[in-house]
Amino acid sequence: MMKSFCFRGPAAKRMERTPMADSCVFCDIAYRAPASTTDLLYSDDKVVAFQDINPSAFRHYLVIPIEHIPTVKDLERTNEDHQLVSHMVKVGKDLLNRDAPGSEEHRFGFHQPPFNSVDHLHLHCLALPFIPSWRQVKYTPLGPLGGFVDAEKLLERINI
Ligand SMILES: [Zn+2]
Ligand SMILES: [Zn+2]
Repeated sequence: MMKSFCFRGPAAKRMERTPMADSCVFCDIAYRAPASTTDLLYSDDKVVAFQDINPSAFRHYLVIPIEHIPTVKDLERTNEDHQLVSHMVKVGKDLLNRDAPGSEEHRFGFHQPPFNSVDHLHLHCLALPFIPSWRQVKYTPLGPLGGFVDAEKLLERINI
């Protein structure tokens, strides 16, 4: 009976998250479900990266955690979450440096609910220009209430 108290703390919080959600398209990609035909640009034991299905810029990649974390609202000020997001950004930067070194700007960020399209955390990695240019509206930080949050701003928010 007393043993259950050992699971309190960060580990317990973590276990409340669903490791893999039913019918989540990004879980299908991360876990290489047979139905998923998405080509991975990068993968390791924490994250995978692939092209956005509907690209809005010269290069438009998504980096997602393998673990099913629904949105930025589910991230917390923990070492674990901060390291995970830092790692996602690093993977995205490396990919854009490799594939779009001459691009005018590289932009990294997340959609905040209710502006997120898929309920599985995903980092948008954009090498500008936007194509077509009006798409930038969706990927420009517009203050704290905006739909898009810069990755560096999010890292500050969850820094411990
Ligand atoms: Zn998922
Ligand atoms: Zn998004």
